[in-house]
Amino acid sequence: DQIEAPRRIRALHEDVVNKIAAGEIIVAPVHALKELIENAVDAGSTSLEILVKDGGLKLLQITDNGCGINKDDMAILCERFTTSKLKAFEDLTSIGTYGFRGEALASISHIAHLTVTTKTVDSSCAWKAHYAGGKLAPAKPGQSADPKACAGRQGTQITVEDLFYNVPTRRRAFRSASEEYAKIADQVGRYAVHCKGVAFQCKKHGDAGAGIAVPATATVKDRIRIVHSSAIANELIEFELSNAQYGFKTEGLVSNVNYSGKRTALLLFINHRSVESNAIKRAVEQTYSTFLPKGGKPFVYLSLEIDPARVDVNVHPTKREVNFLNEEEIIELICDDIRTRLGKVDTSRTFMTQS
Ligand code: ADP
Ligand code: MG
Repeated sequence: DQIEAPRRIRALHEDVVNKIAAGEIIVAPVHALKELIENAVDAGSTSLEILVKDGGLKLLQITDNGCGINKDDMAILCERFTTSKLKAFEDLTSIGTYGFRGEALASISHIAHLTVTTKTVDSSCAWKAHYAGGKLAPAKPGQSADPKACAGRQGTQITVEDLFYNVPTRRRAFRSASEEYAKIADQVGRYAVHCKGVAFQCKKHGDAGAGIAVPATATVKDRIRIVHSSAIANELIEFELSNAQYGFKTEGLVSNVNYSGKRTALLLFINHRSVESNAIKRAVEQTYSTFLPKGGKPFVYLSLEIDPARVDVNVHPTKREVNFLNEEEIIELICDDIRTRLGKVDTSRTFMTQS
């Protein structure tokens, strides 16, 4: 047998690299939306309006009333690794904002049609621009790609159309728009519960229903009532704990022994990012198992703030996972505290029914 000569190694074209990276960060419409929500919150918005068409595949639009984007920054807005939030690697240890990689808008511009309309306080008008492949693009062939002056309110509107239009295999993988919308509504609901002082609206295009509508003034309990149900909101225990040794504090609302759901609802925020943690979910379920009827599951909203120096948010581009020191110890302390609180409510109930 003859061994073939190896093929030569070549650098991938930048556009190919960017499209691959984009597909890793934005797997489904909900991931684009999460980034857009986080950007709007980072911009100091107190109102977020979200419009969704075809589960986000046809249209994702988010309108905020935040600080807006400088017209002069619009040219590099969607380039990869351009950000207003991080300068040095060391900044990662004290980062207070959601975003930090400057990859979200870049990614979206590589796999969708992206339009940005924005107005800062000191600009007399709003500016509108289209993006493709990380760069300003003309609205129609032959036109100028420069941002155009237009009327608009303070803040930013991001419009994402035809997500994955140029990634046909990914596009075909989505079977149901309502499944994608459900993921979007779940994610919006999480931030709507967590972001105190911020109004949220989320609507399905052409749907007469209100969707999610949370006023800025709503308390966390009201937010849970609006996004989830009164059945949950009426059975919540407030939760607070801090610990200097492991450098964390946590607060939240957890269901009491009167509430028993079909599935665990875990709304988890670590340093104000919505994240997932199977370890915390398992530990919480274990804690509740002795209090709830067989198969009953709790509702848990937990906001965990950990000394940024002990957290590694840089595990994955999506930031869905976060690593932190003493994870086991911290989870155990939280569950011990929940157990104590559940036990207390239990006794007072018995006492009340006896008297
Ligand atoms: P990152 O959030 O990691 O900085 P993004 O690609 O998400 O990267 O955003 C790039 C930059 O665009 C941000 O740093 C911010 O300056 C600006 N930006 C994005 N969205 C908004 C918004 N809704 N309001 C104001 N500025 C925004
Ligand atoms: Mg961002």
